[in-house]
Amino acid sequence: MDLYIQRDSNHLLSLSFSLPSRRTYILSLSTYIFQMQASVSSLSISYLNSTFRSNIRFCGLRLEAPGFQSDAQLNKYQRIRIVPRKSILPKRLVSVSASTSDNGSPTKSFDYDLVIIGAGVGGHGAALHAVEKGLKTAIVEGDVVGGTCVNRGCVPSKALLAVSGRMRELQDEHHMKALGLQVAAAGYDRQAVADHANNLASKIRNNLTNSMKALGVDILTGFGTILGPQKIKYGKVGFPDNVITAKDIIIATGSVPFVPKGIEVDGKTVITSDHALKLEVVPDWVAIVGSGYIGLEFSDVYTALGSEVTFIEALDQLMPGFDPEIGKLAQRVLINPRKIDYHTGVFATKITPAEDGKPVIIELTDAKTKEPKDTLEVDAALIATGRAPFTKGLGLENINVETQRGFVPVDERMRVIDANGNLVPHLYCIGDANGKMMLAHAASAQGISVVEQVTGRDHVLNHLSIPAACFTHPEISMVGLTEVNSKSFYVIM
Ligand SMILES: Cc1cc2nc3c(=O)[nH]c(=O)nc-3n(C[C@H](O)[C@H](O)[C@H](O)COP(=O)(O)OP(=O)(O)OC[C@H]3O[C@@H](n4cnc5c(N)ncnc54)[C@H](O)[C@@H]3O)c2cc1C
Repeated sequence: MDLYIQRDSNHLLSLSFSLPSRRTYILSLSTYIFQMQASVSSLSISYLNSTFRSNIRFCGLRLEAPGFQSDAQLNKYQRIRIVPRKSILPKRLVSVSASTSDNGSPTKSFDYDLVIIGAGVGGHGAALHAVEKGLKTAIVEGDVVGGTCVNRGCVPSKALLAVSGRMRELQDEHHMKALGLQVAAAGYDRQAVADHANNLASKIRNNLTNSMKALGVDILTGFGTILGPQKIKYGKVGFPDNVITAKDIIIATGSVPFVPKGIEVDGKTVITSDHALKLEVVPDWVAIVGSGYIGLEFSDVYTALGSEVTFIEALDQLMPGFDPEIGKLAQRVLINPRKIDYHTGVFATKITPAEDGKPVIIELTDAKTKEPKDTLEVDAALIATGRAPFTKGLGLENINVETQRGFVPVDERMRVIDANGNLVPHLYCIGDANGKMMLAHAASAQGISVVEQVTGRDHVLNHLSIPAACFTHPEISMVGLTEVNSKSFYVIM
C-alpha cells in the first residue's frame, strides 16, 4: 500500500499499519509532522479500504481534526511504498460505507444505534468510524470535546515540547556553529509560549467538534449516567435529565491525574499536569514526583526553559515503566547532562504548598523501611504519579458492574464484564477508563475495534502492536513487550 508523508530532519516518527488480517506494520522513520507546530505522537493507518489516507491519525485523531488538508496537500509529501508480504494480504478488503451526513436511521425501537459516553479521542474515533459504517450515533460529553488528549494532555504537552526542542537547539552553541549560525542568547516569552499551547488545543478542539458535526454525529451536552441495559440519561446540573436508548453503548470516560494521599494540590505551587500545561510559572526549582513519560516530558520542558528539576521516584530506578536498557540510555542522555537530580526508593508522603513566603515542603519516606528519610524545600512540585480512571457517577451499579481500582473490567473485545464475571450485553468500555493501555491512539483503536464488532465483524485489537512514545529530546519510542515483560509473559504461558 502507499503512504504519503512529509520528511524533515531529525525527528523520529512511529508509524503503524493495521490490516484487517490483524497484523501490524511498524516503521521508524526520521520524519517530522505535516504542518503541526508540535511533535507528532503516532500515526496509524487503518487499511480498511483503498481510501485509507483519510484514516491517517494524529494522536488517535483523524487527519481532519488537527486541520490537515488531506488530498491536495498529500501530493507534496514524500511517497513511500509498503508492500506487504503476499501471505498476509487480506483476501477481501473490508469496505467502509460512505459517511452519512444524515447520521443513518436507528435500529427499530432505539433512539440511536450507538451512544458513546465521553468525547475524548477514544469516543471521537469510535463516533467517526460508526457514522462511516452507517450507524446513527450520538456522543455525550460532560465537559469539553477532546477530553484529556486535546485539552490537558498530548496536544498542549507536545506544543510545549516543540518549544523546548527549539530552545535546546538554539542553546547548543556547538551545533549552531557547525551550521554556520550565530545566535544571540535564546530567550522566551512565557505567556506567549503558554498561549501557543492553548491556541493549538482550542484549534484542534474546534476541528474535532466540526468533524463530528459535519458527519452528523449528535453531540449531546451533559454528564452521562447508565440507567440500565441500553439506556442512559444525560443532562446539565440544574436542568432536567434527558433519557435516551441505544442498541449499543460505549463508555469512553477517560481519566484524571492520580494524586496520592498526603499531597495537597493547590494548583499554583503543588500542581498536576492539568495545571502545568497552562505554564503559569516556570519555577526556578521544581520537584517532579514520578518519573514516567509524563514526568520525563515535563523535565524536558522545564530544564529547557531554565528550571532545575529534582525527580522523586518510589522505585529503585528512574523510569521504571521503560525497558531497563532504554532507561539506562535515557538516563545518560536526558538526565545526567541536565540540571536534574533525583531521589529513588522514596515516597513523597506529605507535600505542603508554598505559603506566606515559605517554600513547598516535601517529606520523603523510605519506600522499604517506611522510615522518614529526608525533607526537601522547593519552589514547586509537579505530581506525575499516573492517571486514575474517571468512572464515578457513571451508574455502573445499575448494571451490576464493579470497577477494579476504578477501571471498568473488560474482555479482549472491550466488552464490559459484570460483578458475576458475565459479559454485559451491548456495553463496551474503551480508552483510559478500562486501563488496558492509557494512550490516545490506543483509545481510538479500541473504539474502532468496537464499532467493527457491533457492525458484524469480529475484531480483537492486538495491543502488543501499538507503539508508545515519549517526546523528549531525543525521543523514546517503543512497541511490544520489554525484555522483562517477555520473560514473565512466556513463563505464564
Ligand atoms: C500530560 C499528558 C500527555 C499525554 N501525552 C500523550 C501522548 O503524547 N500520546 C498519547 O498517545 N497519549 C498521551 N496522553 C494520554 C492521553 O491523553 C489519554 O490516553 C487519552 O486522552 C485517553 O482518551 P480517552 O478517550 O480514553 O479519555 P479522555 O481523553 O480522558 O476523554 C474522556 C472524556 O469523557 C468525558 N466524560 C467523563 N465522564 C463523563 C460522563 N459520565 N458523561 C459525559 N462525559 C464524560 C470527559 O469530560 C472527557 O472529555 C497524555 C496524557 C497526559 C495527561
